[in-house]
Amino acid sequence: MAGVQIAGYHTGPDDPALLVATEGSVEHVALEPGAELSSPLGDRYCAGTIDDGAHYPCDRPGTPYCERHTRDWAPTYAEEEYAVYLAAFAPTTFKVGITRSWRLDTRLREQGADRAAHIHTAASGEIAREVEREIAAEMPEAVRVERKVASLAATVDSEAWDALLDEHAPIERFDFDYGLALKERPVAETIATGTVVGTKGRLLILEHAGTTYATDLRDLVGFEIAAEATRDHQASLGAF
Ligand SMILES: [Zn+2]
Repeated sequence: MAGVQIAGYHTGPDDPALLVATEGSVEHVALEPGAELSSPLGDRYCAGTIDDGAHYPCDRPGTPYCERHTRDWAPTYAEEEYAVYLAAFAPTTFKVGITRSWRLDTRLREQGADRAAHIHTAASGEIAREVEREIAAEMPEAVRVERKVASLAATVDSEAWDALLDEHAPIERFDFDYGLALKERPVAETIATGTVVGTKGRLLILEHAGTTYATDLRDLVGFEIAAEATRDHQASLGAF
């Protein structure tokens, strides 16, 4: 079946996008504020792999990836400088994490953190992981997407956050603004139809028929969409 399929996504500050695969090629559909999406979701199956801009489809039923295409997430740590950080999700969900130092700002935005603090620098990933484990005794290392949806349209409890930072002597503090200005918490729903309000980490915020929705981009991966849904975008890029 030569369908059009959502095969992946990009998060991060520069180019949030859906990666839409058609007959082996991959198109980036930008998720910038104001962009219109009109992609009713069809069947969902394994999203296959993307390699060097080419899509290799797979029709196995596992979603977003079948067993064969599930990437192995066993972490490997490089011998380079790592940062240990605390991240805050409004109002009072705080987590600890590590990342290579040069990726810190990007990593925090990928997760959709509202605030963060760099609290420790380690010479290697292994050492950073040890520090993370110690701190993880008092707070989680991961925050569920449901919690992140709940943090939309909320603000960080500064008192609680500052109290936590007092215990960890921050090296640098971060305060992120995703430009969403939401008055109400969006409805959690897996859709790709509506006007893009913005993205916050893996969450795509869409406005459709007067309601604001939050969709986990990962939940869109693997869905077939109608070919015409991306036609406007292709035309605007002069792809024909
Ligand atoms: Zn597969």
